[in-house]
Amino acid sequence: MSDVIIGIDLGTTNSEVAVVQNGIPVVLTGEDGDPILPSVVGLSDQGKLLVGKPARNQYPLFPERTIKSIKRLMGKDEKIKLGDREYRPPEISAMILKALKERAEKALGHSVNKAVITVPAYFNDTQRQATIEAGSLAGLEVKRILNEPTAAALVYDPQQTAGLHVLVYDLGGGTFDVSIVHWEQGIVEVLASHGDTQLGGDDFDELLLNHVAGQFMTEHQIDLRTDRSTRARLLRACENAKKQLSDFAFTKVEEEFIAEKDGVPLHLSMEVSRGDFEKLIQPLIDRTMDSVQKALNDSKLSASQIDRVVLVGGSTRTPVIGIILENLLGRPPRRDINPDLCVAMGAAVQAAMIAGSTVGAVLVDITPHSLGIKTLDPSSSMYGERLIFTPIVRRGTPLPVSRSEVFRTVTDHQPRVEIDVYQGESENLRQNHRVGMFLIEGLGKFPAGNQIVVQLDLTLDGVLKVSAREKATGLSKQIVIDNALETMDSEERAESANQLDELWRDRFQDDLGEDSDEIGDESDDDEGLEYEPNEAARPMPMMDVGPREGQREAVQARALLEKADRLRTKATSEDQAELDRLMQNVRVSMEDRNWPKLEQASNALADVLFYLEDA
Ligand code: AMP
Repeated sequence: MSDVIIGIDLGTTNSEVAVVQNGIPVVLTGEDGDPILPSVVGLSDQGKLLVGKPARNQYPLFPERTIKSIKRLMGKDEKIKLGDREYRPPEISAMILKALKERAEKALGHSVNKAVITVPAYFNDTQRQATIEAGSLAGLEVKRILNEPTAAALVYDPQQTAGLHVLVYDLGGGTFDVSIVHWEQGIVEVLASHGDTQLGGDDFDELLLNHVAGQFMTEHQIDLRTDRSTRARLLRACENAKKQLSDFAFTKVEEEFIAEKDGVPLHLSMEVSRGDFEKLIQPLIDRTMDSVQKALNDSKLSASQIDRVVLVGGSTRTPVIGIILENLLGRPPRRDINPDLCVAMGAAVQAAMIAGSTVGAVLVDITPHSLGIKTLDPSSSMYGERLIFTPIVRRGTPLPVSRSEVFRTVTDHQPRVEIDVYQGESENLRQNHRVGMFLIEGLGKFPAGNQIVVQLDLTLDGVLKVSAREKATGLSKQIVIDNALETMDSEERAESANQLDELWRDRFQDDLGEDSDEIGDESDDDEGLEYEPNEAARPMPMMDVGPREGQREAVQARALLEKADRLRTKATSEDQAELDRLMQNVRVSMEDRNWPKLEQASNALADVLFYLEDA
């Protein structure tokens, strides 16, 4: 018999068990090597008990003999039927706990009979008691019931002593919680907690399913949702596609022989972009952000008083969530510890502390800086466009990582794109470090808005592969950069700023001729790339998201306005009035984006300038 205490995350969708070994929390895997045990219990067709994956797999086909989400019923005076018997919720939970206990015993090689089990912060006393009862039915003495957000906060900093406010955003498969905890001298207090027990990644899958099924219906007049097993296959394909979209800008929902029409089999192969998916789930994400706001209000804290933001639950891998949270709270969330596992790890940390062991910080290899490329700022005004840094892999992402984003060209028939790779945190390119550059040339003759997918693959050793692909044709190019993880020192930063200054100076002269060096930042139209933003994720003024057909006219007009400003001082008051009128016409048509009118107005202004120059 051993004194080891295991830590258990008894989740609505999934559960895990962890233990501290050599001072570090480790999540224990089952025989299949997977640390995640689906919180599903069922009976096979021979009436045998199934727990975990086999039960989850049979759910779509045999929901009548499978029980999911028992956590929602904990503490309720309800019975649930399985086979020919009825069970109370703690009895079903006990089956999951028993499977986890067995997993731990196999992994550790000895029996285990004590546990710390986590519950949501909003669980009331009855629900907590039901969880303790489930533990005891499974043969586990529950040493402590721990709040899930506290567990998540613990794992990030077991030795923390200073006062700290941590916001824990937890979005799993079926539930959402946000909590604000205060941490001082090892005492953790939950200040506020909000959530929605009926909102999670499963809803994202449903939305994607309806989107795909709707399109299939339009194309083939067949509803894939009516047949139970077809729907189940489609749902699984949609969940896979959703996970792909966390890393890649596009994916395909694919299923062979999904239906039949007039005796001919139909296959499903539908492309979905991350942008399409984000639009579908936006209303749900908004609801979670309303809860974040409520939690802030309840805790009487402002966003700036939150010291740390922690992501928990598999669905927080959806990148737009981190971006919106960062916009709202002004700091990037911690994402280094696997969001599926960090509650179980925190339970193990608490368990080890109760047992009197010391626990160290979990060290994960992460990107120390964000990596991304140079793009045009879509919110810059027509009077001076700006080039900015757009991150693709964000700081603190665990390694290895593959991420892609979609960008688009800014001019019609743009023949090439410059992929300029930077490392850093500032939107201002000069503050960042340039790690490499290449051109992708020979793009197709497409209007502005031609999609270019840029993908970064970064290994644990810091080898960075950057590839760019013209989506319409598949034309692609890539480079490999060694040592992309090396950080820059202040000297390098200064050097990098100088290089950029030089680059701009040369560039303006190339672009606009001798008058142009006094004009604001301007991109090279032949190489410019614009980030294709999700408006909700990046709340920027979007005055300039349409195709850039007026780019050339605008560049010329700006040069003329500059020249007019300079010559105006030499002009008579009569000519000044005329100049003011003509300049105003240019500005108005530029703001209206009326390119034919802008050309006319520019020509009229050019005529007067010509006359003034000669005078
Ligand atoms: P949890 O209940 O915390 O285990 O979270 C499970 C949910 O996370 C399910 O809805 C999964 O589909 C979702 N999930 C897992 N991995 C990803 C991913 N890479 N991107 C988006 N959602 C994910």
